[in-house]
Amino acid sequence: MKEYDVIVAGGGLGGLTAGVILAKEGMNVCVIEQHSIVGGCLQSFRRGDHILDTGMHYVGSLDKGQTMHQYFKYMGIVDRLNLQKLDEEGFDYFHFNDGSTFRHAMGYERFIETLAAEYPDERENIKNVCRLINRVGRTISPEVLRRGKISDGGIDYISISAFEQIARHIKSERLQHAMAGNCKLYAGNKLTTSLYEYGMITHSNIEGAYAFTDGSQQLADLLAEQIKTHGGEVRLNAKLAKIHLNANRVESVELASGEMLRAKWVISSLHPSQTFALLENNTTYKRAFFTRINSLENTYGLFTTYLTLKPNSVRYVNQNHYMFNGTDAWSTTADYKGHNISSTLLCMQPNANSEYTNVVTLLTPMSLTQCQDWANSHVGQRSNEYREFKQSFSEAVIDFVSQYYPTLRGSIDKIYTATPLTYRDYTSTPDGSAYGIRKDCRNPLVTMIPTRTRIANLLLTGQSVNIHGCLGTTITSALTCAEIVGTEYLAKKIGNA
Ligand SMILES: Cc1cc2nc3c(=O)[nH]c(=O)nc-3n(C[C@H](O)[C@H](O)[C@H](O)COP(=O)(O)OP(=O)(O)OC[C@H]3O[C@@H](n4cnc5c(N)ncnc54)[C@H](O)[C@@H]3O)c2cc1C
Repeated sequence: MKEYDVIVAGGGLGGLTAGVILAKEGMNVCVIEQHSIVGGCLQSFRRGDHILDTGMHYVGSLDKGQTMHQYFKYMGIVDRLNLQKLDEEGFDYFHFNDGSTFRHAMGYERFIETLAAEYPDERENIKNVCRLINRVGRTISPEVLRRGKISDGGIDYISISAFEQIARHIKSERLQHAMAGNCKLYAGNKLTTSLYEYGMITHSNIEGAYAFTDGSQQLADLLAEQIKTHGGEVRLNAKLAKIHLNANRVESVELASGEMLRAKWVISSLHPSQTFALLENNTTYKRAFFTRINSLENTYGLFTTYLTLKPNSVRYVNQNHYMFNGTDAWSTTADYKGHNISSTLLCMQPNANSEYTNVVTLLTPMSLTQCQDWANSHVGQRSNEYREFKQSFSEAVIDFVSQYYPTLRGSIDKIYTATPLTYRDYTSTPDGSAYGIRKDCRNPLVTMIPTRTRIANLLLTGQSVNIHGCLGTTITSALTCAEIVGTEYLAKKIGNA
């Protein structure tokens, strides 16, 4: 039986960043990924000459000296990423159906002035919310790392409601929605979203937001390459099937092929309900624990409409556009021509050496229940009704977006789509959830999953633990790896890289 220091299950961002950290710190690491390609939600795929991204359209805190930049610097990949900075004057635009449009600008001063230009009486109120956002974001800053911590005080904000804090400071309801206009980026919910989630993600984008030129697969590939450079292995077509326990330790893991592997530590980046479902000979966890883990709500999924465009028909614009079917940024229910389209986020893909984009991606929240009729089918074996559903939904999305962007339809060459079922089948995420387990500020300790488990050498990572997204998942990997190599040591290594 092959033996390693650490086996990491899952080759998405969570598994790969954990793999790089531990390989760099001298451990003999093996990342096992069920598919023939690494990346999970970072995967890009080709349709004709076009590169389409699964689930990573923009990333914050990527300017020099900022948190994400510092992590990627430590991982040895920052100078090799092919990135496009988003528009400092307005990287996110929010269009509501009362005709109002707002934008988030980069840098706190610009952010405040842009919104205060329309709401001069609220300048101080906007500043107050920004102070909160900044305070949350700074809990994971490079200065914190250099002090020997990965996160300093973030926990204080997980039980505070983002919606209530915004409403406490901002008088205008319109402006409240503009402040939270990016909430679809974290499946924002008025009742459950914490100041931690809102602050962390909003701060990172205000600091320095970038998109991947020619797709996000490059990030996964560079991380996998770093694992190998530092002596680790990335095994593809290697599906974790069972975690064999002996008392409260993992003795071995079994792949779907039947092959057994052994390691001092096992880290799973799979959804926690899936990780725990794989335990064999469990005597540590009681049935009530499994019931609790399995009953945690997942965030909604996304219906993705990929538009490949006629050559040189759409100039690339380094902005994202959120379009709302109403005036409530947080709402997830709204009827649009018989379809539940509450909002759609439009992202353009930057292409190297071209002022034109050839792919526009439209992301629309969708619960798995909307495609429940086909829940028992799998990719490649679905019915005509499913294809018709996808076609009619994508037409409705394009129609909806055309209200704000009337020339788009005329530039479309081909349309491709993915539903929450597609994500479920490719990444194995329950419910095809986009961001994993929904965190609830009213019940934070139940919904925040610790990196440590009660199995002594089994750790968790990935987007369902702590916080999702590029930044959140990477920070979580550091927290997980710190359980093995020590927090102060690792934080200082990353902070001083
Ligand atoms: C449509 C969409 C858009 C998004 N946009 C953004 C964005 O713009 N910016 C941002 O920061 N974040 C974005 N996110 C979120 C971000 O993509 C995720 O938070 C992050 O990539 C999750 O990484 P992960 O490793 O936790 O999970 P995943 O990417 O799901 O990776 C899990 C991996 O584990 C593998 N796996 C599963 N089961 C097994 C098994 N039994 N054995 C072996 N391998 C297994 C899967 O194949 C997969 O490769 C988006 C997500 C979606 C869905």
